[in-house]
Amino acid sequence: MQASLPASCSHGWRGILIGRDLLKEQLGWAIGDGQNVLAWDEAWLSLLAPVCPMGPAPELGSNLKVSDLVSTETKDWDEQKIERHFPFLRENILSLKTSKWGGRDKLVWLRHKSGSYTTKTGYYAAVEKNQETMSPNLTLPQEWLKEVWKLITSPKLKLFIWKIKHRALPVGERLEARQVLSGSKCIHCGNTETILHLFFQCPYALKVWELAPFSGGFNLMPLNNFEQEWQRLLLAVALPPLGLGKCTLAPWLLWAIWTARNQKLFQKRSFTPQETVTKAMHDAREWSMAQVPVVTSEKRPKPHQRRSPSEIICKSDAAWKKELQAAGLAWSFYRNHKERISSHNQSEAFVISSLLAEGLAIRSAMEQAISLQYRRVVFESDSLQLVTAIADGLVSPTSMESYLISICCQFLSILLLLNSADVSLSVLRTRLQRKLFQTL
Ligand SMILES: [Zn+2]
Repeated sequence: MQASLPASCSHGWRGILIGRDLLKEQLGWAIGDGQNVLAWDEAWLSLLAPVCPMGPAPELGSNLKVSDLVSTETKDWDEQKIERHFPFLRENILSLKTSKWGGRDKLVWLRHKSGSYTTKTGYYAAVEKNQETMSPNLTLPQEWLKEVWKLITSPKLKLFIWKIKHRALPVGERLEARQVLSGSKCIHCGNTETILHLFFQCPYALKVWELAPFSGGFNLMPLNNFEQEWQRLLLAVALPPLGLGKCTLAPWLLWAIWTARNQKLFQKRSFTPQETVTKAMHDAREWSMAQVPVVTSEKRPKPHQRRSPSEIICKSDAAWKKELQAAGLAWSFYRNHKERISSHNQSEAFVISSLLAEGLAIRSAMEQAISLQYRRVVFESDSLQLVTAIADGLVSPTSMESYLISICCQFLSILLLLNSADVSLSVLRTRLQRKLFQTL
């Protein structure tokens, strides 16, 4: 990782070093026990961006490890030590939760929720880096970003719209600017392919919008601004027979225009504007139908959940106070779902999200299950993101909250411990899960 670029070297090696530099800029540590991380020199203060403490390290502290800030007894942060070394970062550090079960520190790629490098996220990191140097004023109002995540549409489309917003879609103009391709023009009409052109100015796109079944029709104004047009599109209501409910058609149309473009460019397959509209309507309806409310299925017995009478179930929950950045955690153990064995609660400070609160609740419950020497426990949570994170060792596709990685590190070490104690453990996906899917 430290190799320097020689004055003359092969094209391949030069490429590897460019990739290495990109990687280095976006790596950070998910703290487990803190033994492998130098507190002053390495990025460990955030899982959203590579952040390390500012300022020169004091002479004596230059070899300080993150584990030196952790109490050997409680395995939690030693506040006195934090006060001594990083008084200004106290709250930031306390909001990171150390592993109490010896989970190892993990170097993660901060651009992907899983912490693993993907060529796609690497590509976008490179594009953004390039954009930063080219046009520093591209940032758009935060409101716009928030709206994207509130859209009632599939996670895939939210990400897609998000990329449009961040100018991260690899249209011809962008590729040309990055010298990936030269002369990549609009596949439909031969003009310069910008995002605005592809989706709103190209004759092909204009025809798509004209054919789209919006009540009252949808006329594109002579536009220069994606955001303004997007606002109008969101308000456009699809005609009733489409049966889309609250789902908006506009994202699906954008997506269909994008896939039609890719099909033509890469597969040499052409679709007429009408076919593109039909595809958007079909996809939107299909997604919408899959989001049926689950009220009826709640009461249906679930065959795979037959339980042995001796099985213990643990239900955990958390309440999070945003203003205080604090959480109340509660969990109860049950036999046969009805007979409560015991209930517990505790409060926790420096909790930065409700999701983290849910994670801490289930972690405390697991710790207690171990101390009570339960042989088999089923843990239930109503947080889909959390359950997915634990079950897959990953996070849900729409979650932007990368610190789940560190929760996962901790669960993995707890799970290992439970397994070695011959206790099996499963995480149940509860009835709320599908509801959560809808809101994602
Ligand atoms: Zn065009």
